[in-house]
Amino acid sequence: MDKKKYDVIVVGMGPSSAFFAYESIKLNSKKKILLIDQGKRVENRNCPIEKTGKCVKCKPFCSITNGFSGAGAFSDGKLSLYNEEDEDFYVGGNLHKYLGVEETKRLIDYTDKIYLDFGGDKHLEGIEYKEEVDKIRKKAKKQGIELISIPIRHLGTEKAHSLYQKIEEYIEKSGIEMMFDTIVTDVIIENNEVKGVKIKPSNCVDDENSKIEEIYSDKVIIACRKKRCKLAFRYVSKS
Ligand SMILES: Cc1cc2nc3c(=O)[nH]c(=O)nc-3n(C[C@H](O)[C@H](O)[C@H](O)COP(=O)(O)OP(=O)(O)OC[C@H]3O[C@@H](n4cnc5c(N)ncnc54)[C@H](O)[C@@H]3O)c2cc1C
Repeated sequence: MDKKKYDVIVVGMGPSSAFFAYESIKLNSKKKILLIDQGKRVENRNCPIEKTGKCVKCKPFCSITNGFSGAGAFSDGKLSLYNEEDEDFYVGGNLHKYLGVEETKRLIDYTDKIYLDFGGDKHLEGIEYKEEVDKIRKKAKKQGIELISIPIRHLGTEKAHSLYQKIEEYIEKSGIEMMFDTIVTDVIIENNEVKGVKIKPSNCVDDENSKIEEIYSDKVIIACRKKRCKLAFRYVSKS
């Protein structure tokens, strides 16, 4: 029987995976790529809390944090940019410490443009009312608080959904394969080398007798955080 084999398998379809796929398409990669997520397509993700008023702990996985576009799909979709004149970064982590401030600014511009190309609002928040903001900054400083003000691109929850849906369709049309409602239960390692992943349907997550399928690739990218991908992450610290 033919083994299912890919050039690259990506575990998770959050923004990091979606942008990996986007870049592969832009680079005209002819590689056979498979993305796997334990959650649903973005258009099928919905949270019952809007109707029930309280979290009903969805099974098998929470729709807020799982599925295409990952943990951010239900967020307000705020993209923190930067001030041209700033020589350091005050939000957004430590990327600039590794890549330098100029390269980080270039990458933020590049990423921001992708969001704009897929329908992001051209309007930027946080660039008006400079005088008023300065007054608040001075007041805050007197109290020992530093006010950080940077431009924000605000997608909004609904806009974020439709934008990510366009990205999902773009990736799918390019021929990259996507597998939803499928959990990666393990990484296959042979002689200290990655050989692929083990998967099963998400709705069988607690069924120890459910059939586990193997999919092969020499390159497996784990594009999810440790907390949410315990099984696959077992190997990352070792290899
Ligand atoms: C409530 C909330 C609001 C946020 N608001 C903002 C915001 O306004 N602006 C901003 O920039 N950022 C925001 N963030 C942060 C942003 O969502 C994350 O930084 C981003 O989603 C991280 O992307 P990722 O691809 O690394 O991982 P994730 O988005 O976590 O995606 C990982 C994916 O992997 C899948 N997965 C995990 N384990 C497995 C497995 N074993 N098998 C198969 N699939 C698996 C999950 O289902 C998930 O879809 C917010 C986050 C949350 C939770």
